[in-house]
Amino acid sequence: MSFFDLFRRKERKDPPRGAGPRRPPPRATKRRVTKIEREVLEMVFESAKSSHPQEFGAVLRAEGDTITEILVVPTIQGDAHAIMSIYQLPIDPTVAGTVHSHPSPVPLPSHADEQLFRNFGHTHIIVAHPYNLRTWRAYDHDAQPITLEVV
Ligand code: ZN
Repeated sequence: MSFFDLFRRKERKDPPRGAGPRRPPPRATKRRVTKIEREVLEMVFESAKSSHPQEFGAVLRAEGDTITEILVVPTIQGDAHAIMSIYQLPIDPTVAGTVHSHPSPVPLPSHADEQLFRNFGHTHIIVAHPYNLRTWRAYDHDAQPITLEVV
């Protein structure tokens, strides 16, 4: 099963809020996400731990101003950057950005990360080893640090 199959299945089950034939599409490039559910963060930490020492990568999905879901790519092992670079898709308004892990203790974006952030979504997370509340950082599409409230 590909990532895209997963995504489509989700879409059918859970259509984006506000979707409808008469509304203009939301501006996907404008960042209005300011929160993340604790449960989502914990899932990120767990996934990063089980992928360690390889990288873990996923797409972040938001409802309103809150990140509520990660869409894990089943085949990701070892090269989150390469895999995510294929996601230069027509933007789904519920897709906020990406999350990936750094097996090093440094949650700072690399040049490749900066490119990824610029090309996909508006809100990104890097979690560094040992993958906990002290080792994650959020960034905007310019790779500038932002604050996400954990709710
Ligand atoms: Zn990175």
